[in-house]
Amino acid sequence: MASADVIKEAERLMVICNACRYCEGHCAVFPAMELRLSFSAEDLRYLANLCHGCGSCFHHCQYAPPHEFNVNVPRVFDELRGETYARHAWPSFLAPMFRRNGVATGVATALSCIAFVVVGAALSGSTALRAHEGPGAFYKVVPHGLMVVLFGLAFAYAIFAMALACRRFWRESGEPGHRLSASAHRRATFDSASLRYLDGGGDGCTYPTETPSMSRRWYHHFTFYGFALCFAATCVAALYDWLGHPAPYPWWSAPVVLGSAGGVGLVVGTIGLLAIKARSDTAPFPRTGMDVSFLLLLLLTSVTGFLVLFFRATAAMGMLLLIHLGVVMGLFVTLPYGKFIHGLFRYAALARYAIERSKKPDGAAPGV
Ligand code: SF4
Ligand code: SF4
Repeated sequence: MASADVIKEAERLMVICNACRYCEGHCAVFPAMELRLSFSAEDLRYLANLCHGCGSCFHHCQYAPPHEFNVNVPRVFDELRGETYARHAWPSFLAPMFRRNGVATGVATALSCIAFVVVGAALSGSTALRAHEGPGAFYKVVPHGLMVVLFGLAFAYAIFAMALACRRFWRESGEPGHRLSASAHRRATFDSASLRYLDGGGDGCTYPTETPSMSRRWYHHFTFYGFALCFAATCVAALYDWLGHPAPYPWWSAPVVLGSAGGVGLVVGTIGLLAIKARSDTAPFPRTGMDVSFLLLLLLTSVTGFLVLFFRATAAMGMLLLIHLGVVMGLFVTLPYGKFIHGLFRYAALARYAIERSKKPDGAAPGV
C-alpha cells in the first residue's frame, strides 16, 4: 500500500474502533485512541508505534474479515510502522533498506564477513590460522588499534543515525509542546523493560494463534536481556583492556560470564521467536523479512561468539574470530535500518503515552 493509502486505512479503522471500544483493555493503543475524536497522520503513526502486534484486537474483533468492515488493526499498523521507520531514516537515501531489509541485511553482513576474512588474513598472513593463546591472542589476528577504530566508528555511526531518526519521530509524533520529563522516561522505561502490554490484557497475546499465550513475551525477554548482557560484556571487556588486561579472558571472568549468559539468552530468545513466527497466523501477522533477518543476525552473532569461545585455543580461532567480527560489524551497520529501530520508536510512543496519561484528571488510562 502507498503511504497515503495506509494512513487512510488506519484512520478508517480508528474511527470504527473509537465507536466500538470493545478492546480498550487489551493494550495502550485503545486508551490513547479514546483521547481523540479525529486522527491526523502524526497521531496514527504514534498509535501504530504504540502497537506491538499482539493480535488480541484482531482475534476478539466482530468486524474482522470476512466481515465487510474488514477491521485488521495489527496488519495495518504493521505497515504503518514500516512507513514510519523509512520516513525518519537517516540518511534518507538509505530508507529503502527497510523495504528490502532481508536482502540488505544479508548482503551487508556477507560483505562484512568477506572483508574481515580477506583483510584480516592479509594483515596477519599465515599466522592468522595458527593457535594463539594468552593475553592479546585476538590481536595477533586483527591488530588492536584497527579493531578499536573500525568498531568505534561503526558504533558511533549507528548511535548517531538512530538518535537522529528518533528525534525526527519525536518531533513529528511527540506530544506537542512537551519535553520528555523524568517521570515520562521512568514510566516508558518500566513499560518497555517489563513488556507490560505484551500480555494481551491479562491472558497473553493471541500469538502465534488464537489461543492466548505468554510465549512471545518470554522469548522477547530472553532476546532483549540477552542482547543487554552481551553489550554489558563488551563494555566490561573494553574496561579491562583499558586497564591493561587484553582479551581473551578466563572462563570465570566477568566478560565471559556476562557474554555467555547473554549468548544463551539470545539463542533461546531468537530461536523461540523464529519458531512461533513460523507458526503464526498470517492474516494479522505478515511475515516480514525485517523481523526474520534481525533475529537471524542476532542468532548468528551469538553462535559465532560461542564458537570463538569454545575453539579459541585451536588453529580454527583466527578464522572464527574474523567471521564473528564480520557478523558483529554487519549487525552494527544495519542497526539503524532494521527491526532494532522498533524498540526505540516504541519507547518514544510509550513516553508520549505516559505524558498523555499524566494529563488525565485521574492520572490513569481507561481500561488499563
Ligand atoms: S478491533 Fe474490532 S472489536 Fe476491537 S475496538 Fe476495533 S472494532 Fe472494536
Ligand atoms: S495488535 Fe495488540 S497491541 Fe496492537 S492494537 Fe491490537 S491489541 Fe493493541
